[in-house]
Amino acid sequence: MPELPEVESLRRSLKPYIIGKSIQSIIVHKPKLVSGSGTVRQPLEYKKQEFETQPIGAKITDITRVAKNLILHLSNGQVILVHLKMTGQLVYQDDKQNKVLGGHPIEVSESQLPNQHSHIIFELNQGTLYYNDVRMFGYVLLYPNLDTIYKLGHFDEIGLDPFDSQFTADYLYKNLKNKKSKLKTVLLDQSIVTGLGNIYADEVCFRSGILPTRMSNTLTKKEVDKLYKAITEIIPKAVEMGGSSIANYIMADGSRGTYAREHKVYGKAGRQCVICDATLQKTIINSRTTVYCQFCQK
Ligand SMILES: [Zn+2]
Repeated sequence: MPELPEVESLRRSLKPYIIGKSIQSIIVHKPKLVSGSGTVRQPLEYKKQEFETQPIGAKITDITRVAKNLILHLSNGQVILVHLKMTGQLVYQDDKQNKVLGGHPIEVSESQLPNQHSHIIFELNQGTLYYNDVRMFGYVLLYPNLDTIYKLGHFDEIGLDPFDSQFTADYLYKNLKNKKSKLKTVLLDQSIVTGLGNIYADEVCFRSGILPTRMSNTLTKKEVDKLYKAITEIIPKAVEMGGSSIANYIMADGSRGTYAREHKVYGKAGRQCVICDATLQKTIINSRTTVYCQFCQK
């Protein structure tokens, strides 16, 4: 599962290539991907029709992100919501076969486009944008405008983004006080702050010296300050470095992210703590492997 830094890297990399391009044609091979409102989906022929016709002639004016959703804004007011889920990929290829490729690495896409995984194809006035997906858990949904997505409640369960100016240490403290769950559980459920998956949840707990098993309402203000600092340092750094590229996630220019080299605990159970040399421990929280140092984290 891609985490926020990988999706944000992809957004930033694609942006200069697709902004200002107009959509000449769209082919939808798998109606399921453009149907429904997210996870509940069945292939709807009329959705395919709408998707293939309504955006024609519109320009892509922006690409933004809410949590791990990418949103293409069109000059006709419509928006296209893209969620790559486990195995989705976006590839922009220009007329000279140069590629900007991000998401799940699909080997055949490096040499052949379209291919058997190219389920949605946007012909632009310059170049082509492909939505490729191996297992088709992702979605690419057309909405009349951005408000509609919010009104449908698509983003209701999503907390603040680490890049949001409203995301402050006080906000984090107040909201953690109201939760009676393990810290890692709260970080993973996205309800307070979005974008921390298994990798970054472990990393921020380690950086802030807090055990991921701590009940979130027992954290002191001082501890939350450290946690806040860890989140707001680690996430931007990871974006800058193109994310972790663990679980086969690669960034939009096709290069692998390099943040994985910065991991201190994730995937390192049984190895030595970089601070105290003790052996890093492993436990399971919410059926996710969790790694921590029993001495450096309280
Ligand atoms: Zn340690």
